[in-house]
Amino acid sequence: MQLDSKFNFENVKFETLISTSKNQTAISSGSLIKQWQKDDRNYYHYKASDTINSMIAYLSARYTVKKEIYKGIQLELFHHPNHTQNVDKMIRVAKATIDYCSDNFGKYPHDYLRIVETSNHESSNGQAMPGVITINEKIFKRNVENPDSFNVVARVLIHEISHQWWGFLLTPKRVEGYMVLSESLAKYTESVILEKMYGKAMVNKLSASTISKYFSGRSYASETEPSLYLSNHQAYLGYSKGAIIMSAIKELIGEKS
Ligand SMILES: [Zn+2]
Repeated sequence: MQLDSKFNFENVKFETLISTSKNQTAISSGSLIKQWQKDDRNYYHYKASDTINSMIAYLSARYTVKKEIYKGIQLELFHHPNHTQNVDKMIRVAKATIDYCSDNFGKYPHDYLRIVETSNHESSNGQAMPGVITINEKIFKRNVENPDSFNVVARVLIHEISHQWWGFLLTPKRVEGYMVLSESLAKYTESVILEKMYGKAMVNKLSASTISKYFSGRSYASETEPSLYLSNHQAYLGYSKGAIIMSAIKELIGEKS
């Protein structure tokens, strides 16, 4: 059953020209074709070399940027000048996610990945657009130095970067069960990369929180619980139950299968 006929998830050609104040950087999807200054303003010309998903963001702020080229990808992390404590960790996690997803799910589809800090006015931890992910400032400022605490910084980064595969390279149509192909698989990717980077204890913390979110979501739901493949907007199914099922399948048949 089609759930949202107003959404069109077919890929589109994308090219944009943005100007912003001279002390700000303007960011969107697409390769940066040209950048210049005129009349005290900064100009940016972005163009996607191939068609991309139409979920596009425009961002502009007084950013500090950390850049490097990794495996042919221009990796850029735009952040508030004072929010530096997790920047190096985020770069490490971004590289590990690119490595794992490229090796197992297909070639990364762009020659750039922009990780962009957003203010706390936007309530979510992160969002994914083609080649661009936004991460909330509360994640940039989170202290995850204690090895016994859960590394939410890594979790959010892995999740949003994995949407370049689960959501964009593979774009499910808005039909029943679509969240399995975007959110359940992004949650699964979180758990395998977290385990490789930080060990099984970290994944056990993630599973405990995922199970608790399922039961909390279920306790507020008024409808009979549908099967996962018939779910639509229920986050407690698409995110939480799907993640647990994917991890259980992995334990049964092995990661390689
Ligand atoms: Zn997601």
